[in-house]
Amino acid sequence: MVEIKYVPTICPYCGTGCGLNFVVKDGKIVGVEPLKRHPVNEGKVCPKGNFGYQFINREDRLTTPLIKENGEFREASWDEALDLVANKLKEVSDEDPNKVGFYACARSPNENIYITQKLARVACGTQNVDHCARICHGPTVAGLATTFGSGAMTNGFDSIKEADYIFCIGSNNMEAHPLFGRKLIQAKQNGAKLVVLDPRFTPTAKIADEYVQFETGTDVALMNAMIKVIIDRGLQDEEFIHYRTKGFEEMKETVQKYTLDMASEITGIKPEVIEHLAIEYASADKAAIVYSLGITEHSHGADNVMSTANLAMLTGNIGRQGTGVNPLRGQNNVQGACDMGALPSDYVGYRKVKDPETTAWFNDYYSGYGYEVNLPTTPGLTLVEMMNAAHAGDLKVLYIHGEDPVLSDADVQHTKEALANLEMLVVQECFLTDTAQCADVVLPAAGWGEQEGTFTSGERRVQCLHKAQEPPEGAWLDWKIMEEIAVRMGVPRPLFHYESAEEIFDEIRECAPIMAGMNRERLDTPEALHWPCPSEDDPCQPLMHKEKFAHPDGLGVFQALEHKGPVETVDDEYPLLLTTTRILFHYHAAMTRRCETLSNEVKTGFIEINTKDAEARGIINGEVVRAFSRRGEIAIPARVTDDIREGIVNIPMHFVECAANVLTNSDSFDPKSKMVELKACAIQVEKLDEVVEMKGEVYKDGTDTEIKAENMATTTVKVGK
Ligand code: SF4
Repeated sequence: MVEIKYVPTICPYCGTGCGLNFVVKDGKIVGVEPLKRHPVNEGKVCPKGNFGYQFINREDRLTTPLIKENGEFREASWDEALDLVANKLKEVSDEDPNKVGFYACARSPNENIYITQKLARVACGTQNVDHCARICHGPTVAGLATTFGSGAMTNGFDSIKEADYIFCIGSNNMEAHPLFGRKLIQAKQNGAKLVVLDPRFTPTAKIADEYVQFETGTDVALMNAMIKVIIDRGLQDEEFIHYRTKGFEEMKETVQKYTLDMASEITGIKPEVIEHLAIEYASADKAAIVYSLGITEHSHGADNVMSTANLAMLTGNIGRQGTGVNPLRGQNNVQGACDMGALPSDYVGYRKVKDPETTAWFNDYYSGYGYEVNLPTTPGLTLVEMMNAAHAGDLKVLYIHGEDPVLSDADVQHTKEALANLEMLVVQECFLTDTAQCADVVLPAAGWGEQEGTFTSGERRVQCLHKAQEPPEGAWLDWKIMEEIAVRMGVPRPLFHYESAEEIFDEIRECAPIMAGMNRERLDTPEALHWPCPSEDDPCQPLMHKEKFAHPDGLGVFQALEHKGPVETVDDEYPLLLTTTRILFHYHAAMTRRCETLSNEVKTGFIEINTKDAEARGIINGEVVRAFSRRGEIAIPARVTDDIREGIVNIPMHFVECAANVLTNSDSFDPKSKMVELKACAIQVEKLDEVVEMKGEVYKDGTDTEIKAENMATTTVKVGK
């Protein structure tokens, strides 16, 4: 008799955190069903949630450790691979802990991420641990921590349904966070006005009551001018400013020069439109700001974020339902990765490395059985700095857990050179990704549906996952792999030994006061719990900053900010500004491009180019063109459209065969958050002289043989001159 069971889980794609049930037939995952009782998605899912399970049982899952010799992978036993990694990590970290680095996986459960940072800190003695938030919401963490004292979304997702006015800037959530986008529609049905600001006329812009197109990277100039209008007209909330904030006068002085005319010239928005935006935002009883990577992925991303905070504090739009500053976090567990201390400056629960008492507490907590942990109080290297250090020969070993920087980091050529320059690259993965192909050692890991644990969504909701099937034979649980490496490096087993993910979460609760009240019984419900959750009798509500901000003095801090704009500007040689995005059917590539249904929807990449820019180059819709920057060039099909501003082009970042990041710039980054400028680099696009056949199928299996996997995209584009 066929056995069917349903196992509750959380979607592994975006930070909305939708609830699903795995459908399990005879011990194998065969489908998913949206969880009707889930408070976020209420029985609905987007295509990624619906079909994104199809990668799980693919034949190209990694099941054997691989060691590279003379440029070729060979299979190895777990013992051999673990010893090789442990010995190298020990050798190098004994010589200098700053020469090893760790990328944690923001797609993995919290428990695995906690163990990654523990392996770095306890076994290697380094603070060099980071993750992909650095190049998505690093500016949110830095910017909101500076202004509000906490770098997270201020309200729960449902709060948006109570807003009167929604100022959505740099967020195409109808594609990138579709079930949050559904809440915007519900808010509109409740009477809210939705205003979307974006250089592209996105699907989110298409549902807006008002759409404002503006120049990439000019957010601070726009919001400074709005603030000036609000102050000039006396629309600010004096009481809120007086009792709950500081730094107002300095900020007020700085915005004085941002006249409507000046801001109009910078942003490309008409002066009267800026004025109208300011008046409407300030006049609404409950105004909410929603933003995403359009705000953060700039060389001044933290300033952009702090501008949104200035606007909210100025008008008292914080600490109430229907208001707030609401960054939509990218990956499913990127919030959790920050919370777990996969940051070079923070331990778990945002406890600061540079605070000597905190570091002494962790040194003491992690020491014992004759083993002494002695961590420095100097923050380690960020993800971008680790890659640069590798490039310069200053980092010898990099341990990458489930990330794919060859696809996702700026400037692919620079990334590949950096990885090749390491003495050892270790990649712990489910598939032989583009990054894993560069590794010296590949460790096969269990994936989504094959382990217990928790994810934390963008609204700080910590939710339980359950194991629905066994990992493929030969793949290990991530935390077990890292536990074995730590012990082989000489950490006494009692200091690094767990029987279950729940046991790891109990340790997390001990180390992170913001999660102390999250016991398993309270967590394992569809509603789950939001942090801060300091005690088991705390209701752990999603709304933050109700009566005071998270700074020690309880005050929010205005920031005086100047417009900076993109570092790399256009010129005659490179006259178009490239922005990069995600699309509805893909989330990076390693998982969604292995899902047949999703891959069939969009098989390869494209460059969106304005009709006038295309006409000027003789480019017709669908033809393969050459796009090039100072870093490299790609061939890519053109999508000619009026939905993008003239002078701006856009490439979705998922497709390695025409990778946007071949063109992007890793040199210019935000000094406050170390974010690289992924949303703006100068490029040129030109017609190709010849007919081009373009293949989207690029993946390889574990033995370096090209596979014609049935699920992989193979696109042929034939165009004449
Ligand atoms: Fe998954 Fe995000 Fe889609 Fe929800 S909205 S189903 S979390 S990808």
